[in-house]
Amino acid sequence: MVSRVIPVEDFDLVIFGGTGDLARRKILPGLFRRFHSGQMPPEARIIGAARGAMDRDAYRAEVKAALEEFVPERARTEASVNGFLEGIHYVTIDATGEAGWSELSQMLRPDVVRAFYFSVAPSLFGALAERLHGHSCAGPSCRIVVEKPFGRDLESARELNSTLRSHFAEGQIYRIDHYLGKETVQNLMAVRFGNMLFEPLWNSQYIDHVQITVSESVGVNGRGAYYDKSGAMRDMVQNHLMQLLCLTAMEPPSRFDPDAVRDEKLKVIRALDPVAPENIVRGQYADAEAGQGYLEQVENPDSRTESFIAMELAISNWRWAGVPFFLRTGKRLKARYSEIAIVFKDAPHLIFGQAQGRHRNVLTIRLQPNEGMDLFVTIKEPGPGGMRLVDVPLDMSFAEALGPDAENVPDAYERLIMDVIRGDQTLFMRGDEVEAAWAWTDPLIEGWNERGDKPVPYETGSTGPEEAAMLLHRDGRRWREIRP
Ligand code: NAD
Repeated sequence: MVSRVIPVEDFDLVIFGGTGDLARRKILPGLFRRFHSGQMPPEARIIGAARGAMDRDAYRAEVKAALEEFVPERARTEASVNGFLEGIHYVTIDATGEAGWSELSQMLRPDVVRAFYFSVAPSLFGALAERLHGHSCAGPSCRIVVEKPFGRDLESARELNSTLRSHFAEGQIYRIDHYLGKETVQNLMAVRFGNMLFEPLWNSQYIDHVQITVSESVGVNGRGAYYDKSGAMRDMVQNHLMQLLCLTAMEPPSRFDPDAVRDEKLKVIRALDPVAPENIVRGQYADAEAGQGYLEQVENPDSRTESFIAMELAISNWRWAGVPFFLRTGKRLKARYSEIAIVFKDAPHLIFGQAQGRHRNVLTIRLQPNEGMDLFVTIKEPGPGGMRLVDVPLDMSFAEALGPDAENVPDAYERLIMDVIRGDQTLFMRGDEVEAAWAWTDPLIEGWNERGDKPVPYETGSTGPEEAAMLLHRDGRRWREIRP
């Protein structure tokens, strides 16, 4: 049941930062899986470009080690690994100097798709762009891929956009948010706009509220210093949760094409109301074990950066007036679990009597673990004993629905990289979307900084601070369970 693999055109992909963590863990293993599945043409070339001096063989050995670490044994063969390594090249390059650039320009082939993955710190983007043009590596048909963080506020995002746009057209810039590459996230669009069943109900008349949860069980680990400058709002809400919110709430685009989809997402961001302080709960994980609390893992023991945030948002338009959207995300929570839940309203009249309690339809879109969807419907509890109602899921787990082929469903990175080669920007963020998201985020951050708000502590392994539960309890609602 997995869709056919359609090979992409021949390409040269240069990974700036080709020896970095992201390249080793995600980009190279993702490309390998596309090679293994037959989607990547055998003649395509991947050129690692980084500061470290090494030759092609040494880089191939690094790539091989990365595949052995990050691609399960059952998903690779010796022949496919060797075949993939044939297309791997390396150039030692200095993004801010001249070393390596003429070598790179000689390596690139004319007449094949050319893409440059900027898997380096954003402070290097401008220097890379200048040199790519200066050394005639970049033409009007090449593409660049850029990673988050896409700025830390509106001003820095505008600066970054203007740096990139002074060298590349918007149609050449692929801003990755890997959440958009997830199978279920795209399925959200397929379910909404490919079926008659849901869209007529997708509004304030039938939907009570929406919950979006992205829960992590890990803490800041070794990234404390970086994370503390960012926090859950900048690190997760402004990008990943905002994208999920947009896809859930947007109007049907007229076509499934990049600008039609992104125009609709942008309208959602622009329709978001400012959020009152009483609708925001920020937290920091504490731990009974010495050394494990947030404040002990970052450099500033008085830090007011949040590792958890929950919010109630309102979208001011005809479809969503009066429907709260609850967002929460945090570190060191009970489990790694992410889902979007659409909670429908109560049936208008209970013919089975009050004693049967409240039964609501819920559509959940699970992002991790075990990507899939559930539609909870109310049925009669089987067996004798009269009419007792129970809510059961109509389950669509991809792993079960696709059987053994589920393993071949591309992960987010590999799908998105293939989209870059195909020249399809639908699942990438446009510059104005990123700026609109910051324009909404900035005043909230400024607000809590000006008020001097402190995040409340929450227990490691919990579902976040009690105050977050109250955001829903106060109106008789409750968060869905975070399930391990
Ligand atoms: P990293 O520190 O592990 O690797 C950085 C890479 O950049 C190395 O290959 C290094 O050689 C190269 N580099 C640094 N300075 C250079 C220069 N002057 N010239 C040429 N090459 C240079 O970083 P990473 O974790 O791989 O992250 C790369 C980018 O991706 C960053 O912008 C990061 O924010 C973003 N990102 C990373 C992750 C992740 O999981 N690692 C996730 C999302 C976004």
